[in-house]
Amino acid sequence: MQSFRIARIMGIPIELHFTFLLLLILVYYFWGLDGFLLYIVLFASVVLHELSHSYVAKKYGVNIEKILLLPIGGMAMMDKIPKEGEFKIAIAGPLVSIFLGVLLYGLSQFIHFPILDIEGESYPLITTVGTLNIMLGVFNLLPAFPMDGGRILRALLTPRLGYLKATKIASTLGQYFSFILLVLGIISLNIILILIALFIYYGASQEYHALITQNIFDKIKAKDIMSPEIILVSPENTVNDVVYLMFKHRYMGYPVVERDKLIGTVSFNDISVVSDDILVKDIMKSPEVVSPSDTLNDIIHKLANSERVYVVERDKLKGIISKTDVLRVLKILGLKNNQMVEEYIDN
Ligand SMILES: [Zn+2]
Repeated sequence: MQSFRIARIMGIPIELHFTFLLLLILVYYFWGLDGFLLYIVLFASVVLHELSHSYVAKKYGVNIEKILLLPIGGMAMMDKIPKEGEFKIAIAGPLVSIFLGVLLYGLSQFIHFPILDIEGESYPLITTVGTLNIMLGVFNLLPAFPMDGGRILRALLTPRLGYLKATKIASTLGQYFSFILLVLGIISLNIILILIALFIYYGASQEYHALITQNIFDKIKAKDIMSPEIILVSPENTVNDVVYLMFKHRYMGYPVVERDKLIGTVSFNDISVVSDDILVKDIMKSPEVVSPSDTLNDIIHKLANSERVYVVERDKLKGIISKTDVLRVLKILGLKNNQMVEEYIDN
């Protein structure tokens, strides 16, 4: 078990990662009950920050799986971040944190207790939490992925530079920034800072690669990768005929076509369990079909249910894409990564 559900707010499950629980135990051990209390209030602020993102995201139809709390912060797991809503979704978190911080600061002028005692130092709770919220808001406004500021920067740059270049800039800034944090962490021997640096580095590069993959998957169409060589089977053919075709052409599956129309598919799995004189029409399956302009994304989706998909345009069979074809495409993309892929997407 990796995380524990502790609450459900606005329909969103709030979960604690088990490392977060370990941290709480450590905090209690080293800083006592007062340190423990401060951490709880601080992470309640983090939850509020994430809920602010989630609240706006929901307005854009985003589905939020959960809010996960880790020792170095929280994250709202969203199924997608729509381009049009990115600016508002990203800025909501820091704005609420800074607003809450200022509010608590104002309040602390009138209410001076409780005062926490952590390692002999006194911390007025309201002032401390106020300060931490302002820090949380400002830190997240840094214009670098994976901080909110990175998303804000991307949203601002996209109209001028395009989504891809804007993403690249924000994620490169994230990597520079993580490097600075890493150096600071090493100089000051601060393990938390080093962890945050690694987390930011990973988050920054991941964002860019996910986009590249998404883009390439959207750009590659069925007509680009299909095999146009089609060997047809008639519904009146027998299993024996199909076995003969398999020997001759070495394909393991064939489209069943009647009067120029695709009506089924027959594969090795279908014929291996029946006798030779059975007719194809009695054992064929219904085919998975895509159109020539469907994307690699659509194809991979359909291949989950079938070994091959048929490319059909206006009822006419144009080509076949097998799992092997798709794996070959992915292999080529993996070998020829970034430079070529970027050029391809920019065209
Ligand atoms: Zn945020």
